[in-house]
Amino acid sequence: MGRILGIDLGTTNSVMSIMEKNGPVIVPNSLGERVTPSVVGFTKSGEILVGKKAKRAAIMNVGRTVFSIKRHMGTNYRVRIEGKEYTPQEISAMILQKMKQDAEDFYGEEINQAVICCPAYFTDAQRQATKDAGEIAGLKVRRIIDEPTSSALAYGIDKSADQVILVFDFGGGTFDVSIIEVVSGVFQVLAIQGNTHLGGDDFDKRIVEFLVEEFKKSHGVDLSEDPIAMQRLKEAGEEAKIELSEVKESHILVEAITMTEKGPLSLDYTLTRQKLESLVENLVEQTRAPVLQAIEDAALSLDKIDTILLVGGTTRMPAVQRLVKEITKKEPRRDISPDEVVSLGGAVQTLALAPIEGDLEDTLAARYGKEKPVIIHMTPFSLGVGLEHDQFSVIIERNSTYPTEAKDIFTTTHDFQEAISFPIYEGEENIASENTFLDLLRIEGITPAPRGVPRVEVTFRLNPDRILEARAEDLATGVEKKITIAATDARLSESEKQRMVKESKDRVSRSLRERIQENRIEESQSVLSRSEEVLANYAGHPMESTLRKKTEDLRSLMQQGGGDDRKLGETIDDVNRLITIIETAAG
Ligand code: ADP
Ligand code: MG
Repeated sequence: MGRILGIDLGTTNSVMSIMEKNGPVIVPNSLGERVTPSVVGFTKSGEILVGKKAKRAAIMNVGRTVFSIKRHMGTNYRVRIEGKEYTPQEISAMILQKMKQDAEDFYGEEINQAVICCPAYFTDAQRQATKDAGEIAGLKVRRIIDEPTSSALAYGIDKSADQVILVFDFGGGTFDVSIIEVVSGVFQVLAIQGNTHLGGDDFDKRIVEFLVEEFKKSHGVDLSEDPIAMQRLKEAGEEAKIELSEVKESHILVEAITMTEKGPLSLDYTLTRQKLESLVENLVEQTRAPVLQAIEDAALSLDKIDTILLVGGTTRMPAVQRLVKEITKKEPRRDISPDEVVSLGGAVQTLALAPIEGDLEDTLAARYGKEKPVIIHMTPFSLGVGLEHDQFSVIIERNSTYPTEAKDIFTTTHDFQEAISFPIYEGEENIASENTFLDLLRIEGITPAPRGVPRVEVTFRLNPDRILEARAEDLATGVEKKITIAATDARLSESEKQRMVKESKDRVSRSLRERIQENRIEESQSVLSRSEEVLANYAGHPMESTLRKKTEDLRSLMQQGGGDDRKLGETIDDVNRLITIIETAAG
């Protein structure tokens, strides 16, 4: 079976975690960091960079660095780099592939499965695209789970007690507020509001604008014309912003930010929390209306909300926390790191998918009770087809629990009509085209008959990822006729997906085994040199000859290019142990 990753594939940052004995834990990336920026860079030499490296190299790779690809998921947007086009799924897959590899390197075993989180408002196409991205990256996507639900799971909210939760998620590029009602373990999204163009990035912009003005005032130089200076300012500004969540003052120093005839000039400014708060005051304030709207949409009064969860890096700002408290009149829970909570909930969700083994069982039982956290969702939207006169015919009602299946029977509107196209929509409007269009289901080769006679059955199945599977069948023949789901540009065909899976595999130049071997060889080299030192310093120690022998073994394994992987690992451990014994004995 193997481990299953819980992945928060964020607009700005991505985070992964895994269920361990004592609960979900964050898996660090290759840099040892808990958060991986969702940034992909293409270097001039054709290398693909992901994460912090890509973010850092953005200055060198102008026009070849992709930020915030999540905004384009499920659309026909294409990234164009050096004459090659990439779908949003492929770019996201590069991020996921890097995370998968980092997790594999961390655990020293292959990891092929994941639960991926997505916003609650993600449509069918966006969910499908997210799932495809995972598959392109070589991950079997076991479940797509809503981010607010995931956060609730991380907080241990499942079957424990019925309650209404408000999730306030303020990230780098988006602000989402969701109200979820949990009744006997059924999660129902009562309302979703937010602003998809409001986030921490806007705060950074305000800081940069301010610093540019200050610099102009004191030095008469306009930095805004210089892209490299602007990028450096943005990094420094974000760093100061983050620091100001903890301290009252932050010193911003960007050395030699510009050259003048008199030599280089540095930017040197002390930003106070108070100043920062005045710069972003109206941005923070913009979260108020969506929260109030969500409460209204949920047809609730404020006192009916039991729990407030703070999610997203931007909620670490004291000013944001103050506003949430002021609006909700409640102390929000933020005992789990807000930028990690979504991913941790993904890991909790994996429990419901995998058999729990051995010792994990007892520890988890202590934490979650005898039963695994099973969650049942309700769809926040109705799903149906558009008929004559643009009339919307609902097949799966809003607030149905899913997975679920529903059918309806339709007929022709013309004599001897041989095909029917059903546009599929998601929404609550009676006029079909006022809802969100998802796809087109078309059946051809209907047995010719006068209008109104043929009976075509349309079946909708909403799978556990809230992705719709639609079928149409001509009941006269009892056989399913040729059905085409006219692929919208955003949707990948099976053959396109297979090609991308292959390309993505080709990009992994080294297998896990090779990567482990490389790490071992690096490790042996450092162990060998430490051993040389110890042998020189503690000559005559009773263990000297044993260490000398093991060191020789290690050296000869290395001369064979590492030899057997297991053997190499064991020998390294032996040498290390002997070194520690000799050093500790010597005190
Ligand atoms: P997303 O969900 O958009 O991928 P995150 O939840 O990781 O992103 O939030 C990223 C944003 O949070 C960035 O704008 C970052 O600067 C901001 N952020 C992170 N930590 C802090 C902090 N301590 N104080 C203020 N803002 C922070
Ligand atoms: Mg997020």
